[in-house]
Amino acid sequence: MLSVFDIFKIGIGPSSSHTVGPMRAARRFAELLAGEGAMARTASVRVELYGSLGHTGRGHGSDTAIILGLEGEDPETVDVDAVPARVAAVTTAGRLTLAGGQAIDFLPAQAIVFRRRETLPLHPNGMRFTALGADGAPVLERVYYSVGGAFVVGADGAATDGGAPAARPHPFATGAQLLDICAATGLSVSTVMLENERAARPEAEVRAQLLRIWAAMEASVRRGCEREGILPGGLKVRRRAAGLHRKLRSDGRGAADPLVIMDWVNLFALAVNEENAAGGRVVTAPTNGAAGVVPAVLSYYRRYTPNADDEGTLRFLLTAGAIAILYKENASISGAEVGCPGEVGVACSMAAGALAEVLGGTPAQVENAAEIGMEHNLGLTCDPIGGLVQVPCIERNAMGAVKAINAARLALQGDGSHKVSLDKVIKTMRDTGRDMSSKYKETARGGLAVNIIEC
Ligand code: SF4
Repeated sequence: MLSVFDIFKIGIGPSSSHTVGPMRAARRFAELLAGEGAMARTASVRVELYGSLGHTGRGHGSDTAIILGLEGEDPETVDVDAVPARVAAVTTAGRLTLAGGQAIDFLPAQAIVFRRRETLPLHPNGMRFTALGADGAPVLERVYYSVGGAFVVGADGAATDGGAPAARPHPFATGAQLLDICAATGLSVSTVMLENERAARPEAEVRAQLLRIWAAMEASVRRGCEREGILPGGLKVRRRAAGLHRKLRSDGRGAADPLVIMDWVNLFALAVNEENAAGGRVVTAPTNGAAGVVPAVLSYYRRYTPNADDEGTLRFLLTAGAIAILYKENASISGAEVGCPGEVGVACSMAAGALAEVLGGTPAQVENAAEIGMEHNLGLTCDPIGGLVQVPCIERNAMGAVKAINAARLALQGDGSHKVSLDKVIKTMRDTGRDMSSKYKETARGGLAVNIIEC
């Protein structure tokens, strides 16, 4: 069973599947070369990106991520401010140093091939890494897939990192199973999840790591509220969060405008997603493209609800993680696979259920909130203009955050009984996503992506 720490991972923007996943795969390949004793025979590396990665990998910084990953960088710790200079150095020299110390030929424009018209069999985000000897003959080849939320699997679909998963005291794969466990034990969703996490690491460690994740989310809100200018990528999208932050702090509306809280929630989400679009440090929640929804709703909880505290923050993240696991197990958290319901829809569902939990909801109300959060995101296209995680993605997170708060409030007004179960809506999301034309699944070949001129 997955952990909450498989869902919330500190990384860099702009995309968990197109930036963080490829970086992790590239690093893994470099480590494999060392582990297999093939490093010394490697003179160069060729990387082929297929399907959605071939279509929108450039806009998502997949090439930059691969350079950093081959050099052994980790998305959580890489110095994001130093990235442009490092990439420029590799491009100028046509050389990079693999993790493990071997210098190889690597001219990014030639070594990284974007195969737009081809896909590999398992998933739209396929990658093939080939190490080549001095004579150009293959030394070692591996296929990886970046399957959303920074998860990377091998050619056989098996996870390529992490040890054997710990046995959980309360295993669940569906919403119905989770509700049954809560009913049988009398535990809340967050406590079920905490007990599961304690099977893998000490409780103090679980708590400390969750607070570290919250601190990283909070820092991404703060940085997004401070930085101005134009986002990279050529679309000339202006950052809005800093200006909105100044306006909200100075215009003194406060109590006179009961909806001013909505402006703040919008701000929190915009700030995170602008930071993501700029290649800054964010937390997958469950992906980078949807990284603003959970921090925005959690910020709302901490700032605008009575008695909010760190304990509630932990319970919020644990509940959100439990809901994300249901989507990962039964559908997808990849926009390239199921469209935006897999990203902003899942984030909305996670945040809605988590907010219901920390506001005192029963497990049935939590499940209801999570269901509402997804039901009204079904059919949402993924059509990022220019293949950049900017339009519609940044605003879409603000919409997702406000919708999550409303979903929690709707669920808390009821008693948890409702027509469509969370499991049914997850299945519907998966089926609808599969039926969607690939034009609307992170390929930038339909919708807004072709009706707006990129200049
Ligand atoms: S439209 Fe949605 S799924 Fe597509 S890249 Fe943007 S946030 Fe991700």
